[in-house]
Amino acid sequence: MKLTCIYCKTEEFEQGRGSEEHAVLSSLGGRKASKSICCQKCNTALGNEIDEPLTEGLRILSTFLGVVTGRGKDAATLKSYGTHNDKKFDLLPGGRVQQSKVKIDREIDKENGVANISVSARNLEEAKNLLEQQMKSFGKSVKDFKFGEITERIEYPESISGTLDLGLVSQHRSIAKSALTYIATMISPERLRSGCFYQIIEYIVGDIEDLELAKMTTVKFPASPHISDAQHRIIISASSERKIAIGLVELFGGLKFKVILTDCWEGPDLQKGYAVNPLNGEQVEHVDTVNLNNDHWNDETSNLNEEEYKDMMCKVFGVAYGHHVRLERERIISEITQDFCKEYGGKDFTDELKMMLSSRIAKAIANSIYKVDENRKISQDEFEIT
Ligand SMILES: [Zn+2]
Repeated sequence: MKLTCIYCKTEEFEQGRGSEEHAVLSSLGGRKASKSICCQKCNTALGNEIDEPLTEGLRILSTFLGVVTGRGKDAATLKSYGTHNDKKFDLLPGGRVQQSKVKIDREIDKENGVANISVSARNLEEAKNLLEQQMKSFGKSVKDFKFGEITERIEYPESISGTLDLGLVSQHRSIAKSALTYIATMISPERLRSGCFYQIIEYIVGDIEDLELAKMTTVKFPASPHISDAQHRIIISASSERKIAIGLVELFGGLKFKVILTDCWEGPDLQKGYAVNPLNGEQVEHVDTVNLNNDHWNDETSNLNEEEYKDMMCKVFGVAYGHHVRLERERIISEITQDFCKEYGGKDFTDELKMMLSSRIAKAIANSIYKVDENRKISQDEFEIT
């Protein structure tokens, strides 16, 4: 069966052979998609015009949490998000920070034929390579080093500053598209094109501006489906009696939007919810278990006040920070345990060794919580340049 693209209303494609349109944006970790909605041209154009501003506005959360996109790509590294001791730091997927650039200082004392080289790199391996390059430029190797001091330093930038950008009309249009895409996966292509979604389609393509069709909301969302604290969800509810179909969209477990899909619904009652965990792609779908109360149907005319907006942001950043702390703790414990095994592996795990391991872990975790810089002298043996 040939279908017409719902957005341009001109391009045609076979059912199931249109452009792949994700319900929750793939860039935010969404997986569920439909190929019976629109053409490639409209998908690309709307992607640039409305999905990109939403992706960009939420980028700090995606990177901080380490979202894996629906197409299996890691979240972007955010460049120069913090500074410390005149060095810039990048924010890596999962919330780790890393010095943005390596730093090399050379001082050459021609009279005495001596060069002082200082290298500040992101890890030992990189430091070694840089030093080797520097020595080569003098026609020497690292073995010719007269005197060297190597310090492993763990540093934290004073602050990480990024912007979470929400509230643009284009972003709301993208959220409306998410709800429409999800309902499209549960109704026939004919019903999607029957005219009842005329208004929301016009809104998505930008032909009408209606601030009531898709907006942030404070109404309590149903508890299920639930898959993760950082989940994205879309819940659809359509009522044959009220003749309304609405979509509730939740991003990162706390940013909540309500979309009025149509107020001339002629179809049956529908209740369905989809949840995806953007951290690992796990997803779940619930049918007929989503019960909405009256608050969800009633039209709220006012916008979120400052207090409500703040609550919403606190919830989302609380989830992101909690997840980051858990990840960091796991990473620290595994790194220290690995180093410890290299050093003491094969020996009896005496009380003394147990104490040593646990105190190393405790110190590293405390340092990471309180952002205490650490210095550790590394011997030339360990650096392997003797
Ligand atoms: Zn089209």
